[in-house]
Amino acid sequence: MTTISNAQRPVILTGDRPTGPLHLGHYVGSLQTRVALQDSHEQYLLIADSQALTDNAGNVAKVRDNVLEVALDYLAVGIDPGKTTICLQSALPALAELSQLFMNFVTVARLERNPTIKTEIAARGFERDVPAGFLCYPVAQAADITGFRATVVPVGEDQAPLIEQSNEVVRRINRLSGRTVLPEATALLSRCARLPGIDGGAKMSKSGGNAIPLSASPDEISAAVREMYTDPNHLRVSDPGEVEGNVVFTYLDAFAPDQAAVEEMKAHYRRGGLGDMKVKRYLEEILQEVLAPIRDRRAAYASDMGYVMDLLRAGAQCGRERTQETLDQVKRRLGLFEL
Ligand code: ATP
Ligand code: MG
Repeated sequence: MTTISNAQRPVILTGDRPTGPLHLGHYVGSLQTRVALQDSHEQYLLIADSQALTDNAGNVAKVRDNVLEVALDYLAVGIDPGKTTICLQSALPALAELSQLFMNFVTVARLERNPTIKTEIAARGFERDVPAGFLCYPVAQAADITGFRATVVPVGEDQAPLIEQSNEVVRRINRLSGRTVLPEATALLSRCARLPGIDGGAKMSKSGGNAIPLSASPDEISAAVREMYTDPNHLRVSDPGEVEGNVVFTYLDAFAPDQAAVEEMKAHYRRGGLGDMKVKRYLEEILQEVLAPIRDRRAAYASDMGYVMDLLRAGAQCGRERTQETLDQVKRRLGLFEL
């Protein structure tokens, strides 16, 4: 077998764009899984600032300023820097080089057909003015995953077509070199792989303005729950209400520790007699409890940003070595001229 050797533990690579503070969608979609798997896996987290630039070229400051925020969010949810390596994407030049090589193995038509890209282009209103970098970010993401030789990628549902696209590149490269140069990866979806926004929008998203950040204050949490989309036809407490598509219940499914109590509330809501305010108060209490320890840990790390910077520097060093190794192997196995 000529696959570039992985460590004994399976390798995880996943990450987030530093376009804003991480939110509850990240938490249930991916962060909880990362915390759970960091003991059994070799785990790398990528703060994807280069990818964030593909739709934020005019707002570099936003991307730059959110790098440390994302790092703090990781630490706040329980990512242990002794077990997980945090890497800044723009500090790993081998990824850019790999991505450039991979560009030759993907067609523009395939990128345009990618369902995630289609949805995101529509959401951003790019129409025909899509930055080339944005259209090609799935290729860069393939470089990220394979650069770390990852086989497991814990992500939200929106990312699944990107992992598929990455595997297509891997298969082409392996076929071309007549051997398994790079491993394929599997998207690991959580129980709640797509948390809707508080406005009922299909996905809670930093760019959508419909998120509850992990760093939200108690007042911000209350305000967000008050604003949450419920059943617009549930006008009086006594009216029967819809649970499907009702964000408050979706969040209870995702966060309530007592799911039996949630099922009872759903039945009560459906037959009428349970008011939105009461359900919202119940949810708010739960969210306050989930987020309080995260906020406290965040504040503790935020008081020592020197330590956080040191972690990022060490992570970049480690990530540079690993991704350079992959790049060297890929170039060699593809048969590029060697000096
Ligand atoms: P942006 O709007 O800038 O794209 P985002 O909120 O979509 O930001 P990303 O950084 O693109 O966040 O996503 C990071 C990871 O979190 C991905 O694995 C993504 O699938 C997951 N994720 C993001 N939002 C949700 C959500 N609402 N539910 C489940 N998973 C999510
Ligand atoms: Mg996104």
